[in-house]
Amino acid sequence: MSIWQQHLREAIRSPTELCAMLGLSESSLGLDVKPDFPLRVPRPFVARMTPGDAQDPLLAQVLSVRAEREAVTGFVADPLDEHAGVLPGLLHKYRSRVLLIFRGGCAINCRYCFRRHYPYQAETLRREDLGQVVTYLRAHPEVNEVIFSGGDPLMADDQALADAMQTLAALPQIQRLRIHTRLPVVIPDRITSDLIATIADLSVPVITVLHINHAQEVDAALADAVGALRSVCRSVLNQAVVLAGVNDDGQTQIALSEALYAAGVDPYYLNVLDPVAGAAHFFVEADRIRTIYQEMLEALPGFLVPKLVKELPGAGHKVPWMETLRR
Ligand SMILES: *Cc1c(COP(=O)(O)O)cnc(C)c1O
Ligand code: SF4
Repeated sequence: MSIWQQHLREAIRSPTELCAMLGLSESSLGLDVKPDFPLRVPRPFVARMTPGDAQDPLLAQVLSVRAEREAVTGFVADPLDEHAGVLPGLLHKYRSRVLLIFRGGCAINCRYCFRRHYPYQAETLRREDLGQVVTYLRAHPEVNEVIFSGGDPLMADDQALADAMQTLAALPQIQRLRIHTRLPVVIPDRITSDLIATIADLSVPVITVLHINHAQEVDAALADAVGALRSVCRSVLNQAVVLAGVNDDGQTQIALSEALYAAGVDPYYLNVLDPVAGAAHFFVEADRIRTIYQEMLEALPGFLVPKLVKELPGAGHKVPWMETLRR
């Protein structure tokens, strides 16, 4: 078993244990000790939390709290209406690219994620489904990019990834492959030399999109993993989500962009929260989002300002958030 798989196995799953590790009293946190969506956080991520800080922005992303149980109008199980794929493990919402649900699970359970209500386990791509995906792509020559997603595609082992990436890259219509993952952020050891070698040998460019919400998530080990990815990927990008209590002010977002840049990651998307049941306590008012983004525009060079977007059910692309206000 490799180091990263060991970290997966040893991930913290007990809210009580997590509080004890950080020297925090459960009563002050509104802790939910038996959440429906389990707590799950690998130790290398816990190591970046500040002991004794009940407001730690990394802790807030993973800690199960009783507020999640409150029903809030407008926050629903499937805000994106995404349950129906075209094939098991395949979503085709955007014309030129398909999303492959390569692995349903994740290394970390983020409390704001819409995956908390998904029957993703059933929708995970099985080895024997890859042939069907190839058949689908041949029938849809407008698709030129395959996005490995999930869950987290890097939950798969390196051999399974290599097989799938090589198979898909061999299709003449495929111009590039993309990997959407949070795993290297929470377990930097996931970027193995085998994975790097696989990417290096592919006949098409690969883009990696990470998911980092706060500068404090960026440490030296992550920067090393990014360095390895950059040596073989066309680009290493980031998407974040605006989250109350985590990154809902201008200075925090500016610090995030600068930390990403220093680590070799380019900001790509800043997503507005999907209204998923259980995540209402992360909601940020529109006026506040506007102020945050304005501060970013004033403080950062254009290449460090991510696109502020929202997912709208039925839209054929991610929608600029400013535009959604006028609808
Ligand atoms: C975000 C997303 C993509 C990729 O969109 P880009 O704008 O190309 O980054 C593809 N499919 C689905 C279902 C998505 O949610
Ligand atoms: S899909 Fe991404 S945001 Fe959702 S739980 Fe997994 S790592 Fe977190």
